[in-house]
Amino acid sequence: MIFDMDIETLPREELEALQLKRLQTQCERVYANVAFYRRAFDEAGIKPADIKSLADLRYLPFTEKQDLRNHYPFGLFAVPKDNVVRVHASSGTTGRATVVGYTQRDINIWGRLVARCFAAAGATRRDIIHVAYGYGLFTGGLGAHYGAEELGAITVPVSGGGTRRQAMLLKDFGATVLCCTPSYSLVLYETALEAGIDFKELPLRVGVFGAEPWTDEMRRDIETKMGIKAIDIYGLSEVMGPGVGIECAEAQAGAHLMEDHFLCEVIDPVTKEPVAPGEAGELVITTLTKEAQPVIRYRTRDITRLVYTPCKCGRTFARMQRVHGRSDDMLIIRGVNVFPSQIESILLETEGLTPHYQLVVRRDGNLDTLTVQVEVDEKLFSDEIKNLQRLEGKIQKNIKEFLGVTAQVKLVEPRAIQRSEGKAKRILDLRNE
Ligand SMILES: [Zn+2]
Repeated sequence: MIFDMDIETLPREELEALQLKRLQTQCERVYANVAFYRRAFDEAGIKPADIKSLADLRYLPFTEKQDLRNHYPFGLFAVPKDNVVRVHASSGTTGRATVVGYTQRDINIWGRLVARCFAAAGATRRDIIHVAYGYGLFTGGLGAHYGAEELGAITVPVSGGGTRRQAMLLKDFGATVLCCTPSYSLVLYETALEAGIDFKELPLRVGVFGAEPWTDEMRRDIETKMGIKAIDIYGLSEVMGPGVGIECAEAQAGAHLMEDHFLCEVIDPVTKEPVAPGEAGELVITTLTKEAQPVIRYRTRDITRLVYTPCKCGRTFARMQRVHGRSDDMLIIRGVNVFPSQIESILLETEGLTPHYQLVVRRDGNLDTLTVQVEVDEKLFSDEIKNLQRLEGKIQKNIKEFLGVTAQVKLVEPRAIQRSEGKAKRILDLRNE
């Protein structure tokens, strides 16, 4: 079902005309109201009135996560504080938290966009939506919550944690849609099985999973185990929260970006120039309607490519190819760039391995070393040691062959890797310890 039929199927030309109008208004607003942007525009030698076409976007200054930190907490608001009704913030594990503000209109639009997402995932007002994203300063829980209510579904605000209880509630309430990180869905699934609850026997039919990169191999694993359709939702708090984009259930081939509210481009992260259409690079987002805290050319650090070919669902919004990784998460091991998602693909193509893995990076003298720890399933675990060793060698060879990096592979027993209730911790970087 297409929630906002007129907008989501708008012909490209009309969509771009709308984007340009909104971009011009947005630039005028930030220039007039946010000292940081006025200075950045002036330094770049551009005035809002110079924006005559969408191609002029490339002359606008970028916004980095650090800019949000530098103006902690409310320095980037474009409206008086009285008009702000909500703030969210990142966890701030490294440095200051990044704070984002919303007006009532921002909140309403957010709810609307997430409702679009649920509809694209195949949900309707007749569904029961179990929201296991954390509620609080993190945007995941409340973002999904308002969208589910806007859709008109029964919304179950479970939040994160209490996994065993979650499994019971899923069963008792008969939830049909589950929202959480893909890695947590697997934790929930395992815990439920231990309690004698098999997802396949529940009415659960759709998973709306996001907030961390995951691969198609992991999707297949989840879909097979749980008997559901697993849909990738995209978002980030700096531009709104979840709901910036979502895959449609029909194609499951890249998240349709909500282009009437977000102007998206892909740049080369090194030269910062736009890449040729269809090429991979870093996704950069300009908010077109955000009132409280708009961002101009926000560097997401997510590496992807945009696809503009028509989709079988009928939506005209561009699709971003599954996030390949974050430039922040990219490991450089002896000069070779490696994303955790690339390792994940190789692991999950190997029979007997589970999607629970961790990459440990150490420094040995002047050299970085990478160890891949991955859990095996029960069946493989009871196999002979020499067979396990042979498998380790085989995976090691595949990683070397496909990614060009030497890694130590260590198969570990089921449940040996620590589970997370939110985003999985895929990388353990011990180089500075
Ligand atoms: Zn589609």
